[in-house]
Amino acid sequence: MRYQTLFLSCLLLLVASCSEPPKKESSAKETGAAETEAQLVARALEIHDRVLTMDTHADTPLRMIEPGFDMSVRHDPNESGSKVDYPRMIEGGLDSIFFAAFVAQDIRDDEGDSRAKALAIQMIDATIESALANPDTVGLAQTPDDAIELEKQGKRAVYIAMENGYPIGSDLANVEVFYDKGVRYITLVHSTNNDLADSSTDSKGPEHEGLSQFGEEVVKEMNRLGIMIDVSHASDDVFYDTIAISEAPIIATHSNARAVTEHKRNMSDEMLKTIAEHGGVVQLTMYSAYLRAAPGNPKRDAAIAAARANMKPPSEMTNDERGAMRQTLNEINQAFPDPLATVQQAVDHIDYIVSVAGIDHVGIGCDFDGGGGIEGVFDASEVMNITIELVRRGYSEEEIGKIWSGNLLRVFREVQALAEQKATKAAI
Ligand SMILES: [Zn+2]
Repeated sequence: MRYQTLFLSCLLLLVASCSEPPKKESSAKETGAAETEAQLVARALEIHDRVLTMDTHADTPLRMIEPGFDMSVRHDPNESGSKVDYPRMIEGGLDSIFFAAFVAQDIRDDEGDSRAKALAIQMIDATIESALANPDTVGLAQTPDDAIELEKQGKRAVYIAMENGYPIGSDLANVEVFYDKGVRYITLVHSTNNDLADSSTDSKGPEHEGLSQFGEEVVKEMNRLGIMIDVSHASDDVFYDTIAISEAPIIATHSNARAVTEHKRNMSDEMLKTIAEHGGVVQLTMYSAYLRAAPGNPKRDAAIAAARANMKPPSEMTNDERGAMRQTLNEINQAFPDPLATVQQAVDHIDYIVSVAGIDHVGIGCDFDGGGGIEGVFDASEVMNITIELVRRGYSEEEIGKIWSGNLLRVFREVQALAEQKATKAAI
């Protein structure tokens, strides 16, 4: 008996030392049988169903203002390009979502600012309308508890956000206008600089060396009102300025790890550590270019080279010829697209962020309808594949709950608690 026990212990030790991170106990494991793939998937789907799932970034309001677009109808993503509607949220087990009213950066003058504000309000109103038109399926949410309450009722929570601070224009009072419309986070800046902040991707480089004076006021106003501050798209200097000024933790609603995939839009290790030290959270995004280095595409390169061989140098082209060249290049890019990133690559980023910032500082913001969508998580109906991969890698249900919503809700609560404190102080 003793020898047998010793042999078993050694065997167990060997198995333990050879195996990947320990998987959560399962009934199959308890009975000593190895978990099959089907059992793992079934266990993951149960976890996916039990935890509150939350996607912090979708640009779907852009779709909602398209004439005839109906959120209660299931769309085929390959035909329509649409990545989110309520039927697909149900299919994917996606319990809550932040719909961001996104206004692309344009001219920064009074006329441009008021056009941007009107467009943002149009998208917010369309989002509210779509939720009110589907009261059996979804509900509008404004506080962290709303998502939990709606999940209990078997409904999905629709939060409103704004991507790009451009619609604020130069009038601080607009921040409260958007808060009153239900906006609960604002992405300070998009792909090019605005009046608030520098973008990480403006080809002209920085304009304010971080946050502008007005941007600082906006950050403080967001603290006062209880709006989460989103630094996705912002330059590194804006990130550090915002961390220094904000009295509440901040978020990046759709950003990945720069050490895994080199891209200005991704966050350096130092940024990941800093946002964690300040209690914030980085929401991983399903955008191929931020998840893996672009693979070689020799067929596309050959097609471009062949097309260029028959063209004049661009400097000698007329405007019409230049337009035709752009169209040809677009057609070639569409004919030979880069392969999409994979769920494994996405979860590699989660693993990395967990190793640098900790399990309490990572979440998920897919960027559907804004370019997000990868192999296996192509639209809202497939988000359970993230959970399956997390389970495969040994994440526990508690950890998966933190990733899917717990961490973001913690920040959301702190942001709103700070605003309440400020309101109480102001009232005294
Ligand atoms: Zn974005």
